[in-house]
Amino acid sequence: GPELFGARRNARGFDLTAAPDLAEIEAARAPFADAVFDAGPMLAGRTAGGLRHEVLNPATAARVGFVTDAAAPDVETALRLAEPWAAEAAVRAEVLRRAADLYEGEFGPIFALLAREAGKTQADAVAELREAVDFLRYYADGAGALAHPARGVFACISPWNFPLAIFTGQIAAALAAGNAVLAKPAEQTPLIAAFAVGLLHKAGVPVTALQLLPGDGAVGAMLTRDARVAGVAFTGGTDTALKIRASMADHLAPGAPLIAETGGLNAMVVDSTALPEQAVRDILASSFQSAGQRCSALRCLYVQEDIAATVLEMLFGAMDDLALGDPWDLATDVGPVIDRDAQAGIAEYVANARAEGRVLKEMTAPQGGTFVAPTVIKVPGIAAMAREIFGPVLHVATFRAAELDRVIAAVNATGYGLTFGLHTRIDDRVQQMVGALRVGNIYVNRNQIGAVVGSQPFGGEGLSGTGPKAGGPHYLHRFTAAPAPEADE
Ligand code: GLU
Repeated sequence: GPELFGARRNARGFDLTAAPDLAEIEAARAPFADAVFDAGPMLAGRTAGGLRHEVLNPATAARVGFVTDAAAPDVETALRLAEPWAAEAAVRAEVLRRAADLYEGEFGPIFALLAREAGKTQADAVAELREAVDFLRYYADGAGALAHPARGVFACISPWNFPLAIFTGQIAAALAAGNAVLAKPAEQTPLIAAFAVGLLHKAGVPVTALQLLPGDGAVGAMLTRDARVAGVAFTGGTDTALKIRASMADHLAPGAPLIAETGGLNAMVVDSTALPEQAVRDILASSFQSAGQRCSALRCLYVQEDIAATVLEMLFGAMDDLALGDPWDLATDVGPVIDRDAQAGIAEYVANARAEGRVLKEMTAPQGGTFVAPTVIKVPGIAAMAREIFGPVLHVATFRAAELDRVIAAVNATGYGLTFGLHTRIDDRVQQMVGALRVGNIYVNRNQIGAVVGSQPFGGEGLSGTGPKAGGPHYLHRFTAAPAPEADE
């Protein structure tokens, strides 16, 4: 439980309104503005290597570097040479803390890679580095208190939307518990992953305890059907998680844990007692920060009828002030979506809504990269949304006071249960909604993204994930050979 964790400090971050911080960032990033990165499998033995291909900047289509995918023999080598990390817990913790310090020191190349490879705005990049560092220190703090030994070899399969933070969080947890890790980063973001693994090795993580296998879903599939794998940590789409679970059931030892964080269909309720200025600020951040590419992002806003016109007018005005463009520009608020496929899928969805006359507001996307303009679409309610649209698209519905119970029922009925936002001045309403909603993270009178490690354990229920929550006190235990699953908090 929480008592196992000592005093924590979160990473320092940067103040993006302070000129000295901005100058420091620009100077540290500059040498990596045009650098050509090169990555491939990082194994404890010889690398065979599969296809080598270019990695392109989603904002500019310029080359960021090259990656060599792992081939089947590389997966085999990694599995054969993987060795759980035998060092004592205190030593593992010290190494992970050293890695946290190295990450903080290397903010120049990290920010450059997050902008160029992942399309991350500077604000997102700062938050992401902080989260990665926090995960390293938080799980290091928990290592000494684990009651059970490591499980063995963990496959860690991570997403492109947090190519550093979630990539690092899964690995840090598995390593803190003494496992060997085979890390399969998202195919869109192998360069930042390789950079991070380099820092972890430099900090002292043995190469047999942490190997990197870049590639597409085929690499992940090889891992999740190999009986030498003792557990899987996965963050990504719900469909993929279901496939992984099926594969594990067929091939892995019974009881091998799947720790999955998946999608969401997240709502926010703004009632007529909310402060419109505050609600609008938090709607903007929740829907459009990270170009809406967070599983925690707001997808369906319910605004009470009486104040809907006011809130929407302010929201559309505020959207006009968003700076869209290349995230290398420190003033950019909304960058590109991750790749052409993502862009095309979202564009098609918006085109359908447009044809049906449901688009209330649409900005203009910059040319050149894989941009999607922030868009607001009218819906009767969350039930009308068939799936998660992973981009800067906000849906809006209105409700009357008497309909609040129906709104809660509709949100619960999606089957997802990740984040929920509530703007109200009515205390009883907060209690009522918190009690009735089946979601992992509820945020009141603030935005609903950016869970802070250690303070806001993050994760959902139902189709949104298995738990335990990342950055919370139960997470590490699932990476050990504990006799029964820990209850999620
Ligand atoms: N933990 C992130 C947040 O609270 C979201 C993680 C994800 O999108 O996978 O914003």
